[in-house]
Amino acid sequence: MKVLITAGPTREPIDPVRYLTNRSSGKMGYALAGAALAAGHEVILISGPVSLTPPGDTDILRVETAEEMFEAVASRILEADAAILCAAVADYRPAEMAAEKIKKSDDELTLTLVKTPDILDSCRTEFGFDGILVGFAAETENVESNALDKLRRKGCDFLVANDVSLPGLGFDSDDNAVVIYAKGGSPESIGPASKSDIAAEIVARIFA
Ligand code: C5P
Repeated sequence: MKVLITAGPTREPIDPVRYLTNRSSGKMGYALAGAALAAGHEVILISGPVSLTPPGDTDILRVETAEEMFEAVASRILEADAAILCAAVADYRPAEMAAEKIKKSDDELTLTLVKTPDILDSCRTEFGFDGILVGFAAETENVESNALDKLRRKGCDFLVANDVSLPGLGFDSDDNAVVIYAKGGSPESIGPASKSDIAAEIVARIFA
């Protein structure tokens, strides 16, 4: 099987030296890439800026912005049997990038933000992808209801939720605890465990 995975944050430029981003180390997405390779699958890894080395034999596309990630997914997803969208994509970007560094002359600075394309949402509707679709959800509250809502709304087969308010887990950590919601199935909790163990479980589960 061929698996497309998105990982890491995106960066949305404000000016040549500043950007908006999300807290994401990319560790979960890179662990998924490693687990998929270890299970004998081919991997297309579309990665935002992270300081991780991709596992060997990964077909890697490096991107910065949500728009670039959208274009990269659009260009490769129809080759894949499964897509795991694990990236922490910025939901908004500055409407314009200033050509020069913004000076701190005023006491207040207002940025106008516009929505970025929702890549996961576009998989079924815009890209016409009919393979196995896996979304992630980092929630700080109402984890179950938000996850189930996202599963349905975005046409996913699986939605992996992590409660990022738990101390020592999630962001930047090597460990995680997740709940996998499957379309029409009952939720399954995995962890706390290393991100590589959790990744192996997720890969096994989606191809079961
Ligand atoms: O709605 P929310 O952003 O919480 O959904 C999270 C899921 O959607 C993750 O799988 C994430 O990779 C994906 N996503 C996306 N494009 C966006 C925002 C989120 O693919 N612009």
